[in-house]
Amino acid sequence: MKYYIVSKSDFNSKKIKNLLIEKINGEMTPINPEYVFTIGGDGTFLKAVHRFPNATFFGIRTGHLGFYTSYSYHDIDLIVESIKEKNYVINELPLLSCYLNNDTNHPYYALNEMTLISQPTTLILDTYIDDDLFEEFRGTGICVATPSGSTGYNKSLGGAIIDNDLLSMQLSEIAGINSKFYETIRNSMILSQKHHFTFKPARKYKTIYFTIDNFGYNLEFVESVEVRIGEKYVKIASKEKADFISKVKKSFLRPIVRKNIDW
Ligand code: NAD
Repeated sequence: MKYYIVSKSDFNSKKIKNLLIEKINGEMTPINPEYVFTIGGDGTFLKAVHRFPNATFFGIRTGHLGFYTSYSYHDIDLIVESIKEKNYVINELPLLSCYLNNDTNHPYYALNEMTLISQPTTLILDTYIDDDLFEEFRGTGICVATPSGSTGYNKSLGGAIIDNDLLSMQLSEIAGINSKFYETIRNSMILSQKHHFTFKPARKYKTIYFTIDNFGYNLEFVESVEVRIGEKYVKIASKEKADFISKVKKSFLRPIVRKNIDW
């Protein structure tokens, strides 16, 4: 069995990494590993997905509850055993595919979101849905999130939290400008897999910043960015079928404290 470990470099993460190496049977290699173990937080997990998009992932968290890291340090024996017995649950999460300048041979994938940003100048983007011009956006930028990414940057932008079982993608504005002269839809738009977005800069920008999860690129004179959902999936192992609602509740809400009110 070929495996690889993508780990943070702090003391605790290194300790977990060494323990895992000691207990797991197989060859540790970065060349086509079947399993990838990530040790750290969601950021470490995202980096690993970009490096090994075809592997099966086990996310081991070292900090607070992560959205992609369902195992902890205490689960090392369980992970080793479940690989031996092949009795883990696989959750498949859809990725965004982004095509720059219609280059269908080189998709850029994102598990959380893609963004297009221009600063300090205003970004003017023609937004197409299925090749029909939908709106002219002006502002800082746009963000398109996957369902699993809806709780990341998208949530901070005021986007909706999407059930991970709904195959969809969500477009949110980043500081859109609305006035008597310019108008955008303002609300986040959630589209099914049947649709795709295309963004075309309305003029030639020297650079536009393009991000996919925690990777960023300066695009020089880009003409179009097409975004689709569900062409590729990432396989994530967990102890049981992911309970998205309870993860959202635990991560974002404090426990409800009921006070006895004497009516
Ligand atoms: P990180 O591990 O430090 O992540 C930053 C925070 O985002 C952590 O609290 C992490 O748990 C959380 N996070 C990441 N993906 C999430 C998801 N799908 N659902 C809920 N929370 C999530 O590592 P990083 O490299 O900074 O992570 C990159 C991600 O951070 C981006 O993909 C983006 O979603 C998010 N981000 C958020 C903002 C914002 O909210 N203003 C800005 C930039 C990036």
